Amino acid sequence: MTSTDSATSHHIEVAGVAVDTRHYIGGVRVASAETFTNTSPIDGSFLGEIARGTGSEVQQAVQAAREAFPGWAATAPTARAAILHRIADLVEQNVDALANMETLDNGGLLRSNLRGVMPRVAHNFRFFADWLVENLKHDDFETRGHSNHVSWDPSGVAAIITPWNAPLMLATWRIAPALAAGDTVVLKPAEWTPLTASFFADLTKQAGLPDGVFNVVQGYGAEAGAALVANPALSRISFTGSVPTAKTIARAAAENLTPCSFELGGKSPCIVLADADIELAASLAVEQYDNAGQICLSGTRLLVHESIASEFTSAFTRKVESLVQGDPRDPLSDIGPQVHRTHFERITGFVDRAKADGATIVFGGEQNSGLGGLYFRPTLVDEPTPGSEIVTQEVFGPVLTMQTFSTDEEVIELANGTEFGLAAVVVSGDRSHAEAITTRLVAGTIWVNCFFVRDLRAPFGGSKKSGVGREGGTWSFDFYADVKNTVVAPNGWKE
Ligand code: NAD
Repeated sequence: MTSTDSATSHHIEVAGVAVDTRHYIGGVRVASAETFTNTSPIDGSFLGEIARGTGSEVQQAVQAAREAFPGWAATAPTARAAILHRIADLVEQNVDALANMETLDNGGLLRSNLRGVMPRVAHNFRFFADWLVENLKHDDFETRGHSNHVSWDPSGVAAIITPWNAPLMLATWRIAPALAAGDTVVLKPAEWTPLTASFFADLTKQAGLPDGVFNVVQGYGAEAGAALVANPALSRISFTGSVPTAKTIARAAAENLTPCSFELGGKSPCIVLADADIELAASLAVEQYDNAGQICLSGTRLLVHESIASEFTSAFTRKVESLVQGDPRDPLSDIGPQVHRTHFERITGFVDRAKADGATIVFGGEQNSGLGGLYFRPTLVDEPTPGSEIVTQEVFGPVLTMQTFSTDEEVIELANGTEFGLAAVVVSGDRSHAEAITTRLVAGTIWVNCFFVRDLRAPFGGSKKSGVGREGGTWSFDFYADVKNTVVAPNGWKE
């Protein structure tokens, strides 16, 4: 990777392709007076100077999206779907560049980006294109001889604001249904990971998406993001990120009564019942370190039955010891770096305070000294003080806590005992016992004896402070579209 940025060039070469560092508005590139620096979490190397959007560029982008809306909304669903499939084709043709770019930008494992994440980006477009054409329908029904017809109408301009932990995957799982629904889009990606969104904009152009239908404004949350969500011309705000930011956005959206979809943080339990297969439980616990623990859905609170706690800890520790931490581009690496220095320090602060509070660090608990930089070792915190921040707040790093329980009542209370309700993992060898637990858990998604099995037909979202609303399948269209019911009388016709 080399930077070729200069006074005349707004491109940097990343992963063998040219990435434009400016905004993408109305089908053209727009620069800003100021830029911000983007570095790689792998080794701190300089990646480029990125346009720092302000209210003015946001206004231009929203205006471009407004102007493009009537034409896109009037485009037949089959024609919209065809363009979404062409976007998917181009993503598939560029998987290598996109995966390498994302790894340089956010430090995620290259092998995951190549095999899982970027194929999922393409799937986001194929799925919602096909759902629009094949499944987005409701049977007409009759009321005293009158027919009711339900339809999903394009709503207008959707603002999409996304985090850095899976940048392009999370952005496109909102962009795809918004475009399919006939909305036009302004995306504000996370400032720590601006690259794939910018390159992706070029792919939408190549795919024939009309100018202005999709726009990208780069920049800081408090500047570009805040200006975007305050814009009165928006029809929807889709936000993925933290609870404090969601509260700020909700206040701005309230001014215009703009509907919001919030996909927020979690502090999910991973429950190991006494009848669990211990090896399976230990393997599933290890998976909670995926993406260096930077996954909203991670079951970061291990709740283990006291009768098997010692056996489980041994099996789990053995598996963690075999994990390889290192450069995420190395196919042998299992855990890469944290995304950013600020985030690394936030994680360190949580662990240091837990130590000071008397918790036992079974393993990890510090930077991987052999690697330095932003590599935080996978960590297990045992016996945390009940109710302390390490078991109630989202750390969003490779840090799991372990608590034991003796009864179902106790584990339900622990599992549901935070302000979050995004997901839960339950490991059990007894179907009826597992069901007795899952029915009492408050969470948007529950995995039994598995983790991270995702299907875009399924509802996705969080309970309590983990989110507002559900997306996936028709639920996505219910949010991005204006759902309409047309009632037609049997009388009054002239034929
Ligand atoms: P964040 O809330 O700090 O930032 C998310 C996005 O919001 C960024 O693009 C940021 O620039 C923007 N932003 C910040 N302030 C803003 C403002 N005032 N107005 C408008 N936009 C603003 O979150 P983060 O640290 O980037 O992401 C991590 C969080 O995201 C974690 O809590 C994680 O659990 C959550 N997350 C949730 C899901 C899910 O689907 N539920 C998925 C991934 C991540």
